[in-house]
Amino acid sequence: MKNTKTRAFNWLSGIDYICKLIEIILAGIYIHIPFCRQACHYCDFHFSTNLERKEEMVQAIISELDLRSDYLNKAPIKTIYFGGGTPSLLPPSLIGKILEKIFVAYSCEIKEITLEANPDDLSEDNLQAWKSQGIDRLSLGIQSFDESVLKFYNRAHTSSESIQAIEKARKIGFEKFSLDLIYGYPHPDHSIWKADLSQAIAQNPGHISSYALTVEPKTALGNWTQKGKFTPADEEFTATQFEILQEETSKAGYIQYEISNFGKPDQFALHNTNYWKGTPYLGVGPSAHSFDGSNRGFNPSSNSRYLKSLEKSLNPFVVENLTGPDLLNEYLLTGLRTIWGIDFQYISDQFQIDLLILKKDILVKMNQEGWLLWQDKNLSLTKTGKLLADSIAAALFV
Ligand code: SF4
Repeated sequence: MKNTKTRAFNWLSGIDYICKLIEIILAGIYIHIPFCRQACHYCDFHFSTNLERKEEMVQAIISELDLRSDYLNKAPIKTIYFGGGTPSLLPPSLIGKILEKIFVAYSCEIKEITLEANPDDLSEDNLQAWKSQGIDRLSLGIQSFDESVLKFYNRAHTSSESIQAIEKARKIGFEKFSLDLIYGYPHPDHSIWKADLSQAIAQNPGHISSYALTVEPKTALGNWTQKGKFTPADEEFTATQFEILQEETSKAGYIQYEISNFGKPDQFALHNTNYWKGTPYLGVGPSAHSFDGSNRGFNPSSNSRYLKSLEKSLNPFVVENLTGPDLLNEYLLTGLRTIWGIDFQYISDQFQIDLLILKKDILVKMNQEGWLLWQDKNLSLTKTGKLLADSIAAALFV
């Protein structure tokens, strides 16, 4: 019988249970391609603009795939995701080598292979090659359709290239693609954002991902902000654009299934959805993360350190052991960002904690604010609640 009186957390059995689940659930592979043609002014992802070591990097990624072929405990691989960086600037033959290794070294029951691509890489030859390799979903880095904004961001493509890229992808037979957009570009009104959104929706993609422009310290934007050469939009302006995004995508039939992700009903990103639901995944390549269901692993965010490890056939990743509270807090943080929300019965069963009682006062207050959506013991967030998702989750942390 659970000792709810003293709220004894049996974290260990929670972790054990999750470990057992791993044996029967699906898994995914993420491949980080750490190269970009040029540095976008807002971006702090890990990448290098020195493209000379592309082949060496792919060889190292293949070695890592070999070295870590037991990481997922032989769970069948359902999804593969090429992210970065800019995977589309690799020659398709190199993408093919990585896929071949996965198909040989892992047990695969593939449902989706996604490639992040920039519009300037979508030549008909590349599209044909990717399609023949089994890639069936493209995530296109559009960011804006406004030429001056694209220049300001230092994107390597124009607005018309974006539109042509989408047309070409359709012509070659890609049915699943996502457009990435950035909101929150400072401007006297919301006209640029509204035009961007309406242009994106007019292309009728199955999926749209959209993130707020944020100023990260080690970027050109961070530097300009520090020197007073750039003033980011204020919170209210950005929040209004998020609301416009919610409204316009909803009118066009998209479901906001995660805070920043909007999909037509049959076009939710499978790989990302699995990630948000806590499915184990193996991340290979510099800066990639992995999760085996109970612990997280991090690869170094340095191309040279990564290559050196693999040259010596050493595993490049460092393990972070997650405690029971870590796992629960992560479940709250990711779950509350999604349409599926969090399940208090699940929390009680897996973590032996009655969060409904433990956080009763906070939950009552949030409910009164109109941030919470209840369905029995399942909690997700209202439109307004979604604006505060991370703070709401933090308030429920144990
Ligand atoms: S936004 Fe994409 S293309 Fe631009 S620097 Fe970052 S990873 Fe590279």
